[in-house]
This record gives sequence, C-alpha cells and structure tokens, in this order.
Amino acid sequence: MAVPLIQAYRVGRYIASKKLRGVKRYPLVLMLEPLFQCNLACAGCGKIDYPKEILQKRVSLEDALRAVDECGAPMVSIPGGEPLIHKEMPQIVAGIVARKKFVYLCTNAILLAKHIDEYTPSPYLTFSIHLDGSRERHDESVCQEGVFDKAVAAIKLARSKGFRVTINCTLFSGEDPDHVAAFFDEAMTLGIEGITVSPGYSYHHAPRQDVFLGRSASKRLFREIFKRGRKKGSSRPRWTFNHSALFLDFLAGNQAYECTPWSNPTYNVFGWQRPCYLLTDEGYAPSFKSLMEDTAWENYGVGRNPACDNCMAHCGFEGTAVDDTFSHPLKALTSALRGPRLNGPMAADPPILYGDRPSRTVAAVAVSDIKRSNREPDAPSRL
Ligand code: SF4
Ligand code: SF4
Repeated sequence: MAVPLIQAYRVGRYIASKKLRGVKRYPLVLMLEPLFQCNLACAGCGKIDYPKEILQKRVSLEDALRAVDECGAPMVSIPGGEPLIHKEMPQIVAGIVARKKFVYLCTNAILLAKHIDEYTPSPYLTFSIHLDGSRERHDESVCQEGVFDKAVAAIKLARSKGFRVTINCTLFSGEDPDHVAAFFDEAMTLGIEGITVSPGYSYHHAPRQDVFLGRSASKRLFREIFKRGRKKGSSRPRWTFNHSALFLDFLAGNQAYECTPWSNPTYNVFGWQRPCYLLTDEGYAPSFKSLMEDTAWENYGVGRNPACDNCMAHCGFEGTAVDDTFSHPLKALTSALRGPRLNGPMAADPPILYGDRPSRTVAAVAVSDIKRSNREPDAPSRL
C-alpha cells in the first residue's frame, strides 16, 4: 500500500503551481497543535512542559479551521499533546476533510478505540500512530508499560474499519539497527500504509537530554537500518516509508540540505509559532502572513543557530527534499529506483555561521510571556 493516487496528484499539482509561479516559500503541511495536554509523559517530549493553565487551553474548532484556510497547505498534520483528548477533534477533522485537505491525525492511540466511531474512513484521513519500536523499546520510550499493545490493537481496529493508518516512529540514541529493522518488518505486517521516521529532535525542554542522536550518529544509524532492509537483489528498502526518496537519501547522509521550516508552519494555542514546529522559544506571529513575511528565517537552520545543530527532523527537511524532487526530477527518480546510497563519503554539514547571524527578531507573543512548568528535570515527558 502507498499514498493514494488522489493525494499524490493533488499535492503534486499544488507544488507544481507554486513552482511555476516562482513562489520561493510555500507551506506543504500545516502542523496544527490543538492542545499540549497529553495522557502520556514520554522521555523525549518537548511539548508538554507547560503549567496546568496552558495544558488546559484548546485551539477552538473555529480557530483551527481558520488556520487551515489561512495557511492553504494541502496537508494538515495534527500532533499535540494528544489530539483525541480535544472534545472538538471529530469536528475539526471533518472540517478539514470537507476542504479536501489530507489530514494526519497523530495519536498515541490510547483513546482510539473509545473515539474511533466519531470518525469516518476517507482517503483524506489517516491515523498516524506513535510507535517507536518493539514492545520493550516503545514502552521504555513512552515511560509506561502496555502502551505498545494498546497501539497495535488500535492499528488493527482502525484498519479493520477501513481507515488509512501510518506509524510515526522517532529514533533515539542507543537504537540497535537490527532491532529497528525487525520492528519495521513487524510494523509492515499490521497493514499500515507506511512508516514516518525521524531522529528525535533534541528539545531542551525535554527532561532526558541523553536520549537524542547527533546528526552524524543519525546518518550512520540510518545507513545501517537501510542496509538491513534492502529488497532482495536491489538496494531499495523493502519497507514503505511515508517520505520522499530524497528525504531517505538525506537521512542516509547523502544530501547537503538546509531546512525549509516554512514548509511545515505550526499553529497552536499561542498562534503561529516562529520559526518551526520544533523551536518553541522564538515567539509567535499574529497571522500566517506575518509568519511567512516577518520571520527572520536567516537566523535558523543547521550552522545558523545552535538550537538547530542536531536537527534532521522531517518537519524541517522533508519539504526541502520534496522541493528538490520537483527541481531535479531525474535525480529523484534515480534515488527512488536505486534507494538511498549506503556507502561512501557523506555530504558535508553546513558550516557554522552563528557569529554572523543578524539580530533581527520579530515576535508578536514574546517567549517571556509564556510560562513553562517547574517540573523536575527527571520527570519524564516527550513529543
Ligand atoms: S534546523 Fe530548521 S526545522 Fe530544525 S529546528 Fe532548526 S529551524 Fe527548525
Ligand atoms: S511524545 Fe508522548 S507525551 Fe509527548 S505528546 Fe506525544 S504521546 Fe504525548
């Protein structure tokens, strides 16, 4: 199973229209964070470190759909917090589907069995279920036993009801490529459409700082995983990924990409988050237009901001890979046919330019106005 043709066609048509019009910065996936509250507290989460009054806030149905319209991206990813806690989530999803946008509803799946009948199967709706590895690895990652089994049961239930399902897998330090490969094999037997995979971003609001991978370690790990996943007689992975071929090649260390944070703009209870989904201390814009036009983009990216040093996350680099696919279709086709290159020298990381960084910063909501919780550093949390 792969992304349905209707999605490939609509998204392709959207990107082609932007490229033909010479639009340099365009949104591809709106990251709609409707709440920060969660029913888990994972070790690497950088999203739930807020006091109670902020965790209780919700993006309303009206504001959520206004953000979808304002942004105009053809795809909407709904992470959190745990979106299924939000009482208006079925209406938010239905409103996005009615606009013929492709929704990825990201959930840890604990509440999915309870709420699944509030949703209708559609080519426009995918449940993206958080699963970081085998039973032992996932339960360790989310700091709670039994969550893996609930997630797997929820995947089977959603598939039996005809929903599109992907898994969302974040890799951390200490991963064993053999174990990850075995987990991907197991995941594919569940009838999922594909795997979304990313090295964990090193949130400094996450209490466990030792869990994150650096860029070099990430690239080495992905090469080893992909080596174990080759199809017989081919270098292509036998797993289906929810990514472009060039993003997989980037993960394997072969593309010197800079991130395109505007490709995944983020809207949450504070407004439009500058500059991206991952950096939570840079302020908020009052409108999508202001986010795109007034953000000091030149201050962000690997080599341009210390907070970006270890980032290889798909929300920053998949948009770059997709843009490259449209600019260099032959290169993309070759990569798709051959799979990621798994040997030889890796592409160099961008040079460090911190010292040259301009000081322009435009924020509508100052970060100092947003309270963080005083949670003890050892208390677990995660994305
Ligand atoms: S590298 Fe880009 S996507 Fe990653 S944290 Fe920095 S600005 Fe965000
Ligand atoms: S990473 Fe874990 S704690 Fe954070 S939002 Fe996702 S499920 Fe909740």
